[in-house]
Amino acid sequence: MTTIIVGAGHGGGALAANLRQNGYTGAIMLVGEEPHPPYQRPPLSKGWLKGDVEAAGLLLRQPDWYVDASIDLRTSTRVTRIDRAARQVILSTDEVAAYDTLVLATGARARQLVLPGSDLTGFLELRTMEDAQAIKARLRPGFRLAIIGGGYVGLEVAASARTLGASVDLVEREDRLLARVAGPVLSDFFRGVHEAHGVRIHTGTVVAGFEGLDGHVSGIGLADGSVLQCDAVLVGIGAIPNDDLARDAGLACNNGVIVDGEARTSDSFIFAIGDMTQRPMPHYGRSHRLESVPSVLEQARQAAAAICGTAEPKPETPWFWSDQYDLKLQIAGVPFDVDEVVVRGEPMTRKFAVFHLLGKRVQAVEAINAPPEFMVGRQWLASRREIDTTRLADPAVPIKEV
Ligand SMILES: Cc1cc2nc3c(=O)[nH]c(=O)nc-3n(C[C@H](O)[C@H](O)[C@H](O)COP(=O)(O)OP(=O)(O)OC[C@H]3O[C@@H](n4cnc5c(N)ncnc54)[C@H](O)[C@@H]3O)c2cc1C
Repeated sequence: MTTIIVGAGHGGGALAANLRQNGYTGAIMLVGEEPHPPYQRPPLSKGWLKGDVEAAGLLLRQPDWYVDASIDLRTSTRVTRIDRAARQVILSTDEVAAYDTLVLATGARARQLVLPGSDLTGFLELRTMEDAQAIKARLRPGFRLAIIGGGYVGLEVAASARTLGASVDLVEREDRLLARVAGPVLSDFFRGVHEAHGVRIHTGTVVAGFEGLDGHVSGIGLADGSVLQCDAVLVGIGAIPNDDLARDAGLACNNGVIVDGEARTSDSFIFAIGDMTQRPMPHYGRSHRLESVPSVLEQARQAAAAICGTAEPKPETPWFWSDQYDLKLQIAGVPFDVDEVVVRGEPMTRKFAVFHLLGKRVQAVEAINAPPEFMVGRQWLASRREIDTTRLADPAVPIKEV
């Protein structure tokens, strides 16, 4: 029996380990186009960028582990095609490898911004260790970084850049930060925090193009005719799923490969996990593409259980975290279809939680420096119990007694 995993990122690396933990004795080939063994991306915009985490600390497992676990790890190697009829993949080395089970874990790539001046040098993105290295090499006092995109990656890099003394202008097309991923209370809170740290935030601002000096970007031209001077531009406007291989192979896709609760695609011999999937969201009765470590780890466990024939893991509540300055944000759930928002605690104290509810049931909780609210909110999300929102809004009532 042979399982081939395409993509040696967070999901691919976790799945290889899960298979062995579940007692899988067949051959495992783990193919990744990056030159590194699987590593974690979250620190790239946070601890590693600020110099708090060593490069070796990014690796999920040390290289010897793959040898000891008999995992055939192929780095710097791309899968270029899937031949579903023959159950084979074709590698960039021209090798043809046969599988009994194939798992796609190809992640996502940074969305590109193509505007007049995009061909200048000095543009940065953040997805890989090399991208992070290029950003880190520039961040120092006096360096003028412009960031396009007020999502988590943009805000985390802004926080790290300010901590290292660089100046930051952040441009966001929407009228608030985190518009796609968080509620307005959190958007306003993070705006205040970043402005207090000296980040100049330009929301509701459209980028028209770029100005250059000797072929290098020197400013962002805005739609109102003004120019923001800068030494480099980080484009952080989201990620698009690497589902090209799957689409070429005829697997069902819709903004990512469509999978079921076992992480199985429309071909029963092929699984898919992580950022590249459109996955079921059992608590919400819909599917969604999540880009988070807990989600890819859950799907890795689902796929490993299905491949090994072991017990199916219980569905988990989705969650996510972000670190900016001394703030720890933890989010459980997704604020779909919300009809009531309850803020527990005072944002000015930098310790509060925002509960998003539908018919008195928690759909999502966003907790700033408030782990108990996050944990209890997660339990409520799973239990679907109705909550007394008056007691919830009163921080004098301990969260466990709400
Ligand atoms: C800067 C940054 C910060 C983040 N912070 C957080 C956070 O705080 N919390 C959180 O929960 N999540 C965070 N995330 C998201 C998290 O890292 C991803 O959700 C997670 O890495 C997804 O794992 P994956 O295996 O799906 O994809 P990836 O880890 O991206 O791995 C995919 C791998 O597949 C490779 N690949 C693609 N195509 C091929 C091919 N044809 N052949 C071979 N290899 C291929 C890619 O090169 C890549 O190495 C962050 C992401 C980034 C970029």
